Amino acid sequence: MAMVEKFAGADETLVSSASHETHAASDRPLISLSHIHKVYQMGDVEIHALHGISLDIHRGEFVAIMGASGSGKSTTMNILGCLDRPTRGHYYLEDQDVSTLSKDELADIRNRKIGFVFQGFNLLSRTSALENVELPMLYLGVKTAERLQRAREALELVGLGDRVDNMPNQLSGGQQQRVAIARALVNRPTIILADEPTGNLDSRTSVEVMGVLQYLNQEHGITIALVTHEPDIAQYTRRVVQFKDGRIRRDEIVENPRNASEELARMPPVVEEDFEEDED
Ligand code: ADP
Ligand code: MG
Repeated sequence: MAMVEKFAGADETLVSSASHETHAASDRPLISLSHIHKVYQMGDVEIHALHGISLDIHRGEFVAIMGASGSGKSTTMNILGCLDRPTRGHYYLEDQDVSTLSKDELADIRNRKIGFVFQGFNLLSRTSALENVELPMLYLGVKTAERLQRAREALELVGLGDRVDNMPNQLSGGQQQRVAIARALVNRPTIILADEPTGNLDSRTSVEVMGVLQYLNQEHGITIALVTHEPDIAQYTRRVVQFKDGRIRRDEIVENPRNASEELARMPPVVEEDFEEDED
């Protein structure tokens, strides 16, 4: 597969491979939520969104977060992503307690350590794939030449090395989501957080995107947590954490994860259309 070979030589520069099947007892979790409560204040009303959840995620894990609407998935993702702070409890990110940091300190941690992928892709529309992927590095002050190189590598990694100059509207939904994944990993984050990354995609394209995430997780040890309400999608990960009413109700290993690239190989081929530019 071209993107695998391509990446072999680039391994050191973009991500450090650190895939571990098992953890030694001394292995500290990458992420540790400890008795997290979140209470939203709505006027006089308090909404208790999280009731003391505890959750560890180790390096190299691929975790699905599931649960009914309102069960606290997004609240948890916002805390994990340093977009919001818990009301009570502690969040240790690589052993640093980030639960009490200021907004500015959180923003800095977020830029350096978290890669986000959203349901709606959230790409800048009149901006090429390459420039979209360069963006997070601008905030970190990475120099132009290195920015270009790393953005190209990230796009090659998600199989879009030949699409760097395309605008989002010249790409299919699946390709746009792959650009978003490249953007999420270009700063070599500690973890990629994805909230319903396949929510806007048809089923075949969803398998493609899960294939890219499986590849990044399995071949490059990238740690991923994703929210999904589709049990089928969760079966491509290696662990399912089930929320109910602001609590974790189940936390289970996926015994035989589905294999996206094998499934894709068995599907009938699609004719790659070139996307016309929208007249808007
Ligand atoms: P999920 O993502 O699983 O659908 P959320 O984490 O978004 O659940 O919501 C959990 C609970 O917290 C719900 O009752 C929701 O209405 C409430 N909630 C979420 N965000 C806010 C907010 N910003 N202000 C007030 N209540 C909120
Ligand atoms: Mg949600």
